[in-house]
Amino acid sequence: MTLQKTRIWLSSPHMGDKEQRYIQDAFDSNWIAPLGPHVNAFEQELGKVTGSPHVLALSSGTAALHLALIIAGVEEGDEVICQSITFSATANPIVYLKASPVFIGSEPGTWNMDPDALEDAIKDRHRHGKRIKAILPVHLYGMPAMTNELMAVANKYEIPVIEDAAEALGSAYKGHHPGTDGIMGILSFNGNKIITTSGGGALLCKNSKDKEKAYFLSTQARDKAPHYQHSQIGYNYRMSNVLAAIGRGQLEVLEERVKARRANFEWYAHFFKDKEGITLLNEPDGVRSTRWLTTLQVDPEMTGGITREDMRQALDVENIEARPLWKPMHLQPVFKGAPYYGSHLEERLFKNGLCMPSGSNLSLEDFDRIATTLTKVLGN
Ligand SMILES: *Cc1c(COP(=O)(O)O)cnc(C)c1O
Repeated sequence: MTLQKTRIWLSSPHMGDKEQRYIQDAFDSNWIAPLGPHVNAFEQELGKVTGSPHVLALSSGTAALHLALIIAGVEEGDEVICQSITFSATANPIVYLKASPVFIGSEPGTWNMDPDALEDAIKDRHRHGKRIKAILPVHLYGMPAMTNELMAVANKYEIPVIEDAAEALGSAYKGHHPGTDGIMGILSFNGNKIITTSGGGALLCKNSKDKEKAYFLSTQARDKAPHYQHSQIGYNYRMSNVLAAIGRGQLEVLEERVKARRANFEWYAHFFKDKEGITLLNEPDGVRSTRWLTTLQVDPEMTGGITREDMRQALDVENIEARPLWKPMHLQPVFKGAPYYGSHLEERLFKNGLCMPSGSNLSLEDFDRIATTLTKVLGN
């Protein structure tokens, strides 16, 4: 019988030294609720890290997107423009509101929303008499999108931008933190993200008014009255004080985590340096990616026929998790028939793309196993 080797994950939680102390404090003070001093402190600390003036800690990144779209005024029958290559959580809240997504393809420099395709889409949707209420670019895998160009298009047509920075905490775009250029931005602290609260998210707002509105909606939309009174439908989306305690500990080691992930990328870049047909995405000038996940493009015409799937399956046999790039939303059965504008680049990225194990807690032994497996499948 062969002993199953321990699993090497794509991205697994990585705790620091302080989380348990903060959690203990939450217990000692009996703030075991979706409010409390750690929630407030976590918001302040996130504000410092991102430069966002108004941060609201929430139960998930998806909840943050849902509230952002409500605040942007998205209603039944509206359209929301969304990056096609992303995780489904970016697009789902559009449908929660009975609005319709319009998907935009990628540009080659960052793999994120193509500003030219965005403008084509706006013009064409307007020609069809559609109301576009928001634009949702994503900083996928931690790589900041072409924010200045996207903002210029959005401003020209006066459409608010909500940035999905779920994978980009610790990235930088020309001196700004992703998520702070649009009217609102969102972060995620899910278990696989760069830092985690086990589950959680945050809304970054430019205006205090938007944060107040989001706070109101996230706490069941309670009107000012001694009894419970509601004139609007609310949600239970606030972050727990216990989870904010974890987040505060995690935030203290954020920079170390980003550096570890960037070092993973460098390891892969070095490993694949002389391997024909395998390429990694470089950072444009003035941009820092968290390298949340290191992603490869595998061109079978140049690898001697070896495909992304050959590599993924060889890793899987060795109990090493790798995953195809996110499947574009306009190819998802659930979004069948949604309008799409773009050059179809993201379809090729999906077809040939592989996300490699990228956790900040990978060991040298893990990299040895990865290297041995890849060498076996690729040859020397
Ligand atoms: C994780 C993720 C989300 C959703 O965040 P949750 O906290 O899991 O709800 C949204 N968008 C992207 C790009 C993500 O990776």
